[in-house]
Amino acid sequence: MSLNRLFWLISVALMLILLALTARIVSSEWGEYRRGARSVETVRVVQLIMIAMEKTSIERGPSNALMGGEIADLPQLSQKLQAARAQTDQSIAILLNALRADADVRYAPAIRNIEYVKAALEPARSNVDRQVEVPRSQRSSDEVSVAVSGMIDLIPPFVTAVADLTSIAIQSDPELLDGLTGMRVASSLREYAGQVGSKFTAPIVTQRPLTKDEVIEIGKLYGRIEQLRSLLNIQMRAYRNNPAYNAALSDLDAQYFGKGLPILGQLLQVGLISGGYELTTAELAARYVPPMASILRLRDVILADLIRDAEIRNRHARNYLIATVVMATVAVIFFFVLMYLVRQRVLAPILRATTLVTGLAVDNHEVEIPQARYQDEIGDMLRALQVLKARSLERISLAGEREMLIQQLQVSSNTDFLTGVLNRRAFFAHSEQQLAVAQRYKRNLALVLLDIDHFKRINDSYGHLAGDSILRNAVQLIAQLLRKVDILARYGGEEFIILLPEADLEQALVVAEKLRATLASHTIAAEDGSPISITASFGVSALVGTANLDHMIRLADEALYVAKNNGRNQVVRAS
Ligand code: GH3
Ligand code: MG
Ligand code: MG
Repeated sequence: MSLNRLFWLISVALMLILLALTARIVSSEWGEYRRGARSVETVRVVQLIMIAMEKTSIERGPSNALMGGEIADLPQLSQKLQAARAQTDQSIAILLNALRADADVRYAPAIRNIEYVKAALEPARSNVDRQVEVPRSQRSSDEVSVAVSGMIDLIPPFVTAVADLTSIAIQSDPELLDGLTGMRVASSLREYAGQVGSKFTAPIVTQRPLTKDEVIEIGKLYGRIEQLRSLLNIQMRAYRNNPAYNAALSDLDAQYFGKGLPILGQLLQVGLISGGYELTTAELAARYVPPMASILRLRDVILADLIRDAEIRNRHARNYLIATVVMATVAVIFFFVLMYLVRQRVLAPILRATTLVTGLAVDNHEVEIPQARYQDEIGDMLRALQVLKARSLERISLAGEREMLIQQLQVSSNTDFLTGVLNRRAFFAHSEQQLAVAQRYKRNLALVLLDIDHFKRINDSYGHLAGDSILRNAVQLIAQLLRKVDILARYGGEEFIILLPEADLEQALVVAEKLRATLASHTIAAEDGSPISITASFGVSALVGTANLDHMIRLADEALYVAKNNGRNQVVRAS
């Protein structure tokens, strides 16, 4: 696999892994943040349930007071009751809105419970109203008890709803457990405190002693109140160092347990003996209800603390989320930058360098070497490549020059410098080949040896330089009359040799005769332009059997000798 492809594959794989990892972390942080936000919202709804429950409890105060009130106080008490009822209705409406607005399916049971309370409020209130309309002397203690219980019975659905939402909130944020439990304990304490007070409504209205059942009921409620008080102490250890909580707890001890509960203790004493309580339900409410507020204050301290902590945790979760997203983004950007840098500054130059080096290896210098832009290792490599390329070019040009020199040398070593035809050495090299071919394929081969007549005289008469010029011109004349395949060479001095492939002795004699006649009939221009006539003598031999070149030359030389002796300017065939 190519480096480039490998790089891309690894980059893409790394990118995918990084993205998956980032998505995993971000989604987990997001979930944490959302859960925190949900738990804060749920705690707020729990708070709304508690407020609605509290308002419903509080409504019992004026209800009970009205059922046991004096005629004179009725308008004022009735006004108080209407105000309390309006507050209950409003708090329930707010609660239902909040529950429905959240559209959390887990809220459905709570919504059903609150809707039940809303529907049950009407008949419970009608019961109370009916008792108020009956003249006090005709009121039945049982009916008053029923009316009182009707209002008390509205509370358990609230408690269930609180339990539901509390567990939802704890699921989202387990750290809410202690606070929510404490809050529920305080809330229950308030409810039982209210209920135990309500137990005295019917006896006070009819100014009778407590029944056995009522005493048992009151005893049970006392027991629960004590239980809840100790539970608060156990459950709320974590709050021991919280000054606001400690202050609220002291206030609870002083107010409710110090002032409120003892009032009921005195009434209980009276109720056990005579039933002459010497106070109205309204008076009881006026004395007993205010100390109960200390329970709610404690509850609210816990609640405020709870929400604050949950909000802080949620803010931290949000900050973590933001930090994670930012870090992930930075990581992704860094990754891209890294990949880009590796690609631009390492991989691409290396790939280009590879093309260059492979190019240089086969002497391809077309590829441009990029300028080194950075003072790094890749830059060093590019600079080194520039040097390599320059040296390679230099080497090639030197090799070319050498080649040319060799060629020139070869030509000049084979050529006669004066006439430009082959020299004796080259003649033998070329002729041996022709001889081998002729012998192998039984081809004809002939040889002509010629020597210019009385050349010494020409030198003597016209000078050596003129002699040279005549030699050159004579060679030109001879060469023009020969075929391309014929091999003409300077054999020595003014003596020339011609090898005629594919020619027998007769054909060679014809050629020699033609040369002789041409030389004899032409005048050749000397250096100074004056016409000079020359003649030459020829000896001709041909290949016979396995004869070698030397033999053919000797025969031709003998014939040439004969031609010279017979008066020159003639062609003689070898014998
Ligand atoms: P012949 O062959 O007819 O018997 O007489 P010749 O005078 O040609 O014979 P010889 O072989 O005695 O002389 C050859 C002369 O050719 C001698 C030399 O001065 C001359 N010669 C040989 N080579 C050259 C050359 O390269 N340039 C010139 N100018 N003269 C040359
Ligand atoms: Mg000679
Ligand atoms: Mg001669």
